[in-house]
Amino acid sequence: MSATANIGVIGLAVMGSNLARNLASREGNSVAIFNRSYDKTTALVDSHPEANFIAAETIDEFVDSLKSPKTAIIMVQAGAGTDAVIELLKERFSKGDIIVDGGNALFTDTIRREKEVAALGINFVGAGISGGEEGALLGPSIMPGGTKEAYKTLGPILETIAANVDGEPCVTHIGADGAGHFVKMIHNGIEYADMQLIAEAYDLLRKAGDFSPNEIAEIFEEWNRGELESYLIEITAEVLKQTDAKTGQPLVDVILDQAGSKGTGVWTVQSALDLGTPVSGIAEAVFARSLSAQAAQRAGKPELPAHAQTWSVEDKPAFIEAVRRALYASKIVAYAQGFDAIRAGAKEHNWEINLGEVARIWRGGCIIRAQFLNRITEAYQKNENLLSLLFAEYFVSAIDGTLASWREIVAMGALTGTPTPAFASSLSYYDGLRAERLPAALVQGQRDFFGAHTYKRVDAEGSFHTLWSGDRSEIQTS
Ligand code: NAP
Repeated sequence: MSATANIGVIGLAVMGSNLARNLASREGNSVAIFNRSYDKTTALVDSHPEANFIAAETIDEFVDSLKSPKTAIIMVQAGAGTDAVIELLKERFSKGDIIVDGGNALFTDTIRREKEVAALGINFVGAGISGGEEGALLGPSIMPGGTKEAYKTLGPILETIAANVDGEPCVTHIGADGAGHFVKMIHNGIEYADMQLIAEAYDLLRKAGDFSPNEIAEIFEEWNRGELESYLIEITAEVLKQTDAKTGQPLVDVILDQAGSKGTGVWTVQSALDLGTPVSGIAEAVFARSLSAQAAQRAGKPELPAHAQTWSVEDKPAFIEAVRRALYASKIVAYAQGFDAIRAGAKEHNWEINLGEVARIWRGGCIIRAQFLNRITEAYQKNENLLSLLFAEYFVSAIDGTLASWREIVAMGALTGTPTPAFASSLSYYDGLRAERLPAALVQGQRDFFGAHTYKRVDAEGSFHTLWSGDRSEIQTS
């Protein structure tokens, strides 16, 4: 087989097939393809003759068909599948060649793999790819890590297939080794929070506002014309409009209310816990899915008292607007927490991540694409050392306009017994950040009481301990 392909794709399930088709559709690309089971390869070639794929039956044929520097994108099942394919390529690739893992790898795996592959002089790029199967085909948002040198070869190829917003491709070099997969993980965490917040808005509109799914679909369509404009709001309206063919009921009413997940939300929260950065909105979204999936507890629960109030919504347009504002404010918090986590991860792992660029490449192709990402980019362009998105002038004033409604909606959730974990925790986070004094002072006192963990004083340097079981005088310990 002659070496004519400038790029190859390994793994031809839904994501790999679509990415390979996307690559083949762009001028200048010649795409080699390989899958462990050959039937997927022939099926793709037969269904898309226009792509002119260079189809390989064996891994050797695949590698031989690639021009130097040989560049292959792995799109196989994350975990053991990825490791197996990397082994095959490590044995066949040479110095300067590029292995790209486009799967949803845990960033610590990517750091490990990069070390192992780089030891052979081969480049390894962990690239987060968001947008699901449609994004892979039409233009995803791509978050590549790895070396700057590898990006010089890979970047122009990825730019041809990425989503495009205002003439700019939604791809940028994120940072070294696992930075790309880390940022993709946080993207997915924000996605969890965004989806949960939308679901809570729906629940309040449905239960407290007494709107039908069709009416709520129309409300979401309206919201999608304003500052909440986003892919997730758009598809929510589509889901709510859908009627079940079997029963004639709204589809949302016949879907079992137990949410699944594939783990990236959990990874985000675990990583944030390790970094000590509060991603409370994302965590609540992950836990809300866990609670929904606790089938045994939910089925076996006794009659639990509620003492809930009914809230009569007299002014329906005002109520809709209040829910919209609560959703917008909570969403800003979710993004602020996500960007904080990226900054904390970058500090921990010595990645140089441009937060404004991250917001820029999330504007198209990915699941959390949203109009207001432009505002996030602008905020970081104005001040790249912004301590929190919530401190940017634009967001200070955006939240200012929502606060009265946000508090009212969280209170309404509590009074009517409608769970709003993400709305409520986002508001608590905001109030925590805003507070002059936090009760953490009391927690420090408690810690010192039972564990002599010491505390610091507001009016002196050093660490102090009170002799709680003695005469309760204070001693300075350092
Ligand atoms: P998938 O179901 O995750 O994986 C199936 C593919 O992996 C098949 O091509 C399979 O080959 C291959 N594979 C599994 N174990 C292997 C091994 N040991 N050696 C060689 N090949 C192996 O496929 P997918 O849904 O297309 O996703 C691909 C990657 O993209 C995953 O990492 C996924 O997390 C990520 N991703 C998916 C989405 C999405 O919306 N689905 C979005 C973003 C990212 P055979 O055909 O031979 O079994």
